[in-house]
Parts: sequence; structure tokens; C-alpha cells
Amino acid sequence: MRVELVVLIKKTPENHEQLEFLGGSDDWSPREGTDFLENRVPAHSERAKVLLEQLQAGGFEFYMREERHFELAEIRLATILKTGPEAQVLGSHLPHEVQFDWSEACETCMRTPEQVGPLVMQHARLADEEAIFGPRHELIVSEKIALRMIKDGITGCLLREVEDQEESSVHDSSYFQVMVTQQLPRAFSPPTRFISTDDRCEACGQGGLFLDSPLYYDVAENEFQDVNHTFESFGQGAAISPELVMSSRFYNLLTACGAHLEEPEPVLFV
Ligand SMILES: [Zn+2]
Repeated sequence: MRVELVVLIKKTPENHEQLEFLGGSDDWSPREGTDFLENRVPAHSERAKVLLEQLQAGGFEFYMREERHFELAEIRLATILKTGPEAQVLGSHLPHEVQFDWSEACETCMRTPEQVGPLVMQHARLADEEAIFGPRHELIVSEKIALRMIKDGITGCLLREVEDQEESSVHDSSYFQVMVTQQLPRAFSPPTRFISTDDRCEACGQGGLFLDSPLYYDVAENEFQDVNHTFESFGQGAAISPELVMSSRFYNLLTACGAHLEEPEPVLFV
């Protein structure tokens, strides 16, 4: 495992000028889709120490997090992985086309209501991906993958067809939502580390939770199904969701069918 420290600063003329002055502007690159510049250095290294000292001395406002990268051999040896589709259907709001059971939501923050109806999306927005995350991190797969899942007896989920919002759609492809039925127990912490922000709701404890380490569990590997959701929900705002944890069998099925997945991270056992 290789750990990288990712440091972010706002892309402003002042910050740019200050970086030029410090002579380190070449090390910073724009972070795609955001107005931040990022700099990546090996975590806990001399370079990381120097960088943080420079930023503090320069009075920069910065954000940082650690990112872990695993060797192919480490991925191949892992039986359970945390990963999901690389692409997500954009949309910062809840899809209004979906019915939710609001009686299940927290009365204070109205977060995480249960989905009761089918997911309705514009199939054209799924961009011909074999697997993609919906706006609320719903796992959506192509018909090809859904058929393979049934054939291989993938456990821990049900499949439900995603309805096309455009009735006269020219897209004749079908998509299926993988309704995850298997919820894991709480991650074992420590060693699992979390970061909590002030977006957390006092009433239900949901919101503002982020994962800061690999996931560790103190249950047997055979208690995992092929598809699992973490007990904890992560992220902030309304669209908080559990992480997707899958067997290597399901991971191999997805990649063999041409799904583009996030860099997988082995789940560890204590
Ligand atoms: Zn709440």
C-alpha cells in the first residue's frame, strides 16, 4: 500500500501569486471539476513536511487528506473490496422522480428516507456506462451485467429495472438498480478511522461523516455477501449514503463486463 497526501488550496489569483513567489507553483495542478489546485506528495515524507511548513508559513488556507493506493497483487489477494462505479450521474439534489418514504426520515434533518418506488432516470444520462452511481449512490448496472449477476447467483441484493424518464426514448437499452439488501455491522474502530464535520445532525447522528482509513471488520469473511452496504452513511448534505463493499467475485464480474470502477481498496479483518 502506498499512501499519498493530497493537499488542496483554492484557485485564486492571490494564492497563485504567492505560490509563484515561493517557487513551487509547478507542483500544483487544477483539480478537475472544482476550483481547487492540488498537490500530491508521499504521506509522512520529508516532502510532505516541507510542503505543510511552507503552506503554514505562507498563511494559506488548505485542506488535506490521505489517499491509499494498492498494488495489483494486493487487490488480487483481497477477498472483499470497497469500490464502486467511477462515474456518477450528476445532480446535487435528490431525484424528484423517485418516491421516498419520508416517515422513515429523521424529523430534524430529513435525511436518508427509504426509497419505495423504482428509480426513474433519463437513460441518455447514463452515458452508455456498464455501471454507474445514481445521484444518491444507487448502484445502476446494464442489462448485460444484470443477466450475468442472475446467472452467477450474486448474493446480497435484488435487481429492479430503472424506468426511463423519457417515454419516447430512442435508447432501447435497459438498466437495473442493484438494491443492496445486505447491511454490514459497524466497522471496527479503531483501527477504522472516521472524520466528522459539523454537518452532523444532533438528532439522528447522520451526516458529515467521512472515512479516513481502510475499513476494518471483526466478523468472519463468510458473513459478507457478494454485495454489501456499510452500516455507516458517509458524505454531507442530503445525499449521504453507505459505502459499497463487494466480494472479489462480483468485482471480477463487473470489470469483465467492461464496468469502469474506482480504484478498489481491500477491506481488512481484525
Ligand atoms: Zn437527523
